[in-house]
This record gives sequence, structure tokens and C-alpha cells, in this order.
Amino acid sequence: MSFSPLGLPAYLLDTLEKQKFTKAYPIQEMAIPAVLEGKDLLGIAQTGSGKTASYVLPILANLEKVTTRVARHVEVLVLVPTRELAVQVEGVFKLYGKSLPFRFKSLAVYGGASINVQMQALPKVNVLVATPGRLLDLISVNAVQLSAVKTLVLDEADKMLNLGFKDEMDKILTFLPEKRQNLLFSATLSPNVENVRNVLLEDPLVINIAPEEKTVDLINQSAYSVTLAQKGPLLRHLIKAKKMRQVLVFTSSVYQADQVASKLSKNRFSSAAIHGKKSQGARSQALSDFKTGKVRVLVATDLLARGIDIEFLPFVINYELPRSPKDFVHRIGRTGRAENPGEAISFVTEEDRHHFKVIQKKMKKWVDLVDGEETTRLLEG
Ligand code: AMP
Repeated sequence: MSFSPLGLPAYLLDTLEKQKFTKAYPIQEMAIPAVLEGKDLLGIAQTGSGKTASYVLPILANLEKVTTRVARHVEVLVLVPTRELAVQVEGVFKLYGKSLPFRFKSLAVYGGASINVQMQALPKVNVLVATPGRLLDLISVNAVQLSAVKTLVLDEADKMLNLGFKDEMDKILTFLPEKRQNLLFSATLSPNVENVRNVLLEDPLVINIAPEEKTVDLINQSAYSVTLAQKGPLLRHLIKAKKMRQVLVFTSSVYQADQVASKLSKNRFSSAAIHGKKSQGARSQALSDFKTGKVRVLVATDLLARGIDIEFLPFVINYELPRSPKDFVHRIGRTGRAENPGEAISFVTEEDRHHFKVIQKKMKKWVDLVDGEETTRLLEG
């Protein structure tokens, strides 16, 4: 998609054109309209995804709306873990900031460089990109005020936490106004990042651009040879035997999704179906019940699965295989997380055998298949 429909002002579009950025990257396509609207955002994305421009561009566009400016008060604060990233991010602000039709100044501050030079450069700065330690030093000498910050960005949050900046980050948050926009970017969604996300973000847009090929390696995969009649009993057996408290089950048709969910409910497994034939209200309800644990099993078709913004699931079951290997990777990718790999289980009928081979070949990963006799034994035992 080109940048023009995303809502950016013409002066930024001109700079993008000069840069020869003709197409928006997926993260930019999703993030730019949301950030322009003032929404909070959680971006699970690595360097190379285009994440920097995805927040720099709408932040610059929003600066035009800021009418009251106070000396030594910054309007945008970007916290980063390293000096290198600070310089890099500020460079992007500077590049696009040049075209703004109003006065604009950005600055990077980080440790290991003269604090005096940074202090002198601070007045009239709108966008400050900082490493946490140096920012606290500057606050302690009253060189900068954060009480007018409209937007906070935490970039590479996982790295920031791994480097032990949690206390500094918490302290910095106490200097910020309560009402503000928060954007959190992280390459992974570790439990630590989850914690930050929970205190920081309000009803965020979640964008997950984690490379799927990589996540596949993190998933424990298995497959069962089944007959059509064994699918239902095997599903119930696995939910019980593996003590699944939250599991996403995929079917390939709306009809099957409804059937599977209704059969589970009859067997006293709390479940709901989510697919394109349900009303928006029913879908939101099912999803929110699933997230809060009221519903244990969510049965979904591929179409809807893409819109489910749950970043991590412990279990995914392919009750029916998807036609496309890409969809298969997308389905099971919902469980891949470095710190806590999930499990993906596929049901494979005799007719599916060949197709399952194609999927594995495309995925470049071979999955152990429990044979039919073993499946039967499991269900009888
Ligand atoms: P980032 O993930 O923000 O570190 O960006 C990765 C690289 O992609 C940087 O060198 C950007 O200049 C470049 N880049 C970002 N967005 C685009 C785009 N839409 N088209 C082409 N290159 C881009």
C-alpha cells in the first residue's frame, strides 16, 4: 500500500517520496492511522520492520496539533536502551522533521557524552530521544521537564529491561503526566514486557510483525492420525489430558466451527465459535470471554483468526488443516514465544496425509505423527 491513504500530511508525503519510500511496510500501514488518532500501541517488531518510521511520522504530524508550548518542556519522549539507537532514532526524527511547516527541534541524549553540551541543546526541544540513566541525570539538574509530554515511546523495551533499566523506567514514568499516548515496541513479548504493557497501555492496538519462520522453531508440534469420527473425542481427550485452560481450535468452515463448539459445550467444555457469520458483537463477546478465561476453547476459522489480537496462546489445535501452508504457519505462529514455547497439534486424516506432507515441506519442518493405532489406543485407554 502506498503512504497516501494513511492520513499523513502532504509535507511528510513529499519527504517520503524524496526518500523513495513508495510503499508502506505492514507495520507502518497499521500503526500510522492508529497513532495519528492518538491510540496506544503495542508493536512486536524487530529492527528492519520499519518500526521507527511507523511512529516517527504520525508523531510529527500530531505535533502540529500542539498549540501551547512551554520552554524546557518536551512534548514527545522516546526512551531507548542504547546510545546507538538514540542517535539512529533521532536521525529519523530530524530527517522528516525538516519538512515540517512549523518550528521543530529534536535531540538525542545518552550517557558517555558531555552532559553540559546536552543541557545547552535542550531548550526548545520538542522531541527528546533518551537513554534512561542520562535522562534521570538531566531531570535531577532541572534541565528538562516531562510534565507536558503528550506521547511516550518505549523502543526496544525488551532490551531496555534486559539491560536492567526497569527502575529507571519506573522513576521516569512518575515525571510524566497521567494523560498521554503510549507506544511500546519490543522484538519479543517476554513476561517482563507483558508487565510493562499492563501498566502502561490503555486498550492498545496490537501489531505483531514477529517473523513467522523464526517462531515456527519455537513451537512444540505434534500430529495425530485420526478418522473423522475420532476428531471430537480426541479433542476432548487432549484438552483434559494436557490440562489446557486456553486453547484455540481451527476449523476450515463456519459450519464445522459451530459444530465443534456446540459439541464441546454439550460435553461441558466452555467454548465459543468465532467466524465471519457471527455479528461483530458476538465476536467481541466470544473473544473477550476467551481472554478472561470464561471460555476455555475458542473455535475459529482462518479468516477471523487473523484479527484475534492475543499475542500468545499456550495451545493451538488444527482440527482441520488449512488449505494453504501459509495459513498453517500463521495459525501455529500464535503460540511461538521464546520464553514460553507453546504447543501446536494437528489432526490428520488419511485423506489429509499428502497435504500435510506439502505443509511440512513448505514450513521446512517435519512433525512427528502419532499413528492411527496409537490414537485409537489413547482414546480407548
Ligand atoms: P527500522 O525497522 O525502523 O530500523 O527500519 C529498517 C530500514 O528500513 C531503515 O533503513 C529504513 O530507512 C527502511 N525503511 C523503513 N520504511 C521503509 C519503507 N516504507 N520503504 C523502504 N524502506 C523503508
